[in-house]
Amino acid sequence: MTLCLVGATALAGCARDAAPPADSAATPEGTPAATAPAAHFDQHSYAEPGKVRIEDLALALAVDFEQKQLSGSATYTLDWVDPEATQLVLDTRDLTIEKVVGERADGKWADLEYTLADAQPPLGSKLTIEAPQRSERIRVTYRTAPQASGLQWLTPAMTEGGEQPFMFSQSQQIHARSWVPLQDTPQVRFTYTAHVTSPEDVMVLMSADNDPDAARDGDYRFEMPQPIPSYLLAIAAGDLVFEPISERSGVWAEPAMVEKASAEFADTEKMIEVTEELYGPYRWGRYDMLVLPPSFPYGGMENPRLSFITPTVIVGDKSLVSLIAHELAHSWSGNLVTFVTPNHGWLNEGVTSYVENRIVEALYGKERADMETAIARNALREGIEEMSDAAQSLAIRPGVEPAVDADGSEVAYDKGAWFLSFLEQRFGRDVFDPFLRGYFDHFAFQGIDSQTFIDYAKDNLLAKHPGKVTEAELEQWIYEPGIPDSAPEVSSPRFDAVDTARKAWLDGGELPATSVTDAWTTQEWVHFVEGMPETLPVDRLAALDKAYAFTGTANGEIAQRWYPLAVRSGYGEANEEIAEFLQRVGRRKLIMPTYDALVKTPEGLALAEKVLSDARAGYHPITTGSVDAVIAKAKGEATTTQAD
Ligand SMILES: [Zn+2]
Repeated sequence: MTLCLVGATALAGCARDAAPPADSAATPEGTPAATAPAAHFDQHSYAEPGKVRIEDLALALAVDFEQKQLSGSATYTLDWVDPEATQLVLDTRDLTIEKVVGERADGKWADLEYTLADAQPPLGSKLTIEAPQRSERIRVTYRTAPQASGLQWLTPAMTEGGEQPFMFSQSQQIHARSWVPLQDTPQVRFTYTAHVTSPEDVMVLMSADNDPDAARDGDYRFEMPQPIPSYLLAIAAGDLVFEPISERSGVWAEPAMVEKASAEFADTEKMIEVTEELYGPYRWGRYDMLVLPPSFPYGGMENPRLSFITPTVIVGDKSLVSLIAHELAHSWSGNLVTFVTPNHGWLNEGVTSYVENRIVEALYGKERADMETAIARNALREGIEEMSDAAQSLAIRPGVEPAVDADGSEVAYDKGAWFLSFLEQRFGRDVFDPFLRGYFDHFAFQGIDSQTFIDYAKDNLLAKHPGKVTEAELEQWIYEPGIPDSAPEVSSPRFDAVDTARKAWLDGGELPATSVTDAWTTQEWVHFVEGMPETLPVDRLAALDKAYAFTGTANGEIAQRWYPLAVRSGYGEANEEIAEFLQRVGRRKLIMPTYDALVKTPEGLALAEKVLSDARAGYHPITTGSVDAVIAKAKGEATTTQAD
């Protein structure tokens, strides 16, 4: 994912923008006893992969926009790992289970007994299926609830075109269970097929072999031949059309958006080629992108073959396409080599953020890559101070009980990426690039934990190139809090120039002339605003606005920094545009800093509540949960609301 929440609200999971706290949660009641040594304890799932594993999933689903419901069946092909096992335990949330059948030895299907336990937030309801025959195939017939945490249903009015409804999933981290009963843990990988029916004029897509030439007829079939973890299961339906970028890549979007999107993402094929050169072939066939409505709570989600992308990165100058580099990079780090449980989030997000920056450097140059690195590290430095020691660590040492939120935040992304930059600096690219490529090959289509990475690095990096990095340094980076002294720094002459310009103005001089700022990119504007004091006098903000028109900016990255400064400074002139921005955009990373700033004063809190009440219908449940929690906390209410 693309997360990276700067500021208070907690995170976890992938999509480039960290996920909400509910994702890394309490220990489930009736903790699954990990009997088989291959199974890792995953406190986010009831599944018992040491006993039985889903190898293939066959979905037959109908999309019903009126009822906000998916209904149909899931048929599992099972590998009964433990010879004693006779139960299949699945994760579900808010599902209605209608029937469970198993295939008998004679090929006939017979009813199976099952128990659906009461819901235990945030895990959901444990579904226990009795399978005394150890059926190779079991089928669950079910339907979803309108409030399914992993689905968002939008009315036509909430879309760009305004004519067709829209629906999309966000399964990471533990939301797949709200639309398919599953072993919802990344240590289980399965292939899947799906037969999906919908209203005739709606296009349906999945994280599978989408056909760019598919006829829009309400009857769709999909196949995903590579085994994936459950959090990569994805579906979307709406008024979607396709625009190719290259032979193997293109954009799906609403008709009004598709040309803008394909122009913005025109470099995608080059990105694929650059990544293949560094880390080996792209193994998933097509790489397409789906542009979602602005309510998508994340920056992007690396659903295989079809990354889900926020429209907020389409700003006309390709300045925010590092998001595409990020989601594409997940085709190696995350989708191919996957964390075994979300407690090892950095193996997905840190490695991906590193690869993302390498792609950006290869396409747009080192200056831009370094500016992006500097922005990320500045935010990390600021955010990490307020975190617990456990949250500051990339992972918890083996044998230590995982803490809530241990996988959250920019730590997994930016400290993780920093760790890889450290290795790159010490060993040099001549050594480190082939090492990382070998790592992707070695663990392809597997889930691993942090200790496995350490062991692999010891054998293939430290032992082969002695004297460069010690095992203690590896362990410090992964298991200890804070940022090690060994962390390499980046310098950015372009940011130095921005710093000089800002300081001159703050010291009473002139604002930088437009002849200077005309050459600034998004990154420089972000840095300019981020370096401002905590608050500024209102007349100073007005002067900035007069010169650069920050208020009302179409660039969410700038809005994300400018509006909190405006709120903290009591610059009421921005309130109308703030309300408009918060209502229009649902991407948590962009809006939460402004909500966090608003709730600190009674007037701001009132505005936040007003905005939320207007925006609620259009927000994704994940976003609503985050905003509700911030408002409740400010009001001193018990924050029982989980983000899911
Ligand atoms: Zn990511």
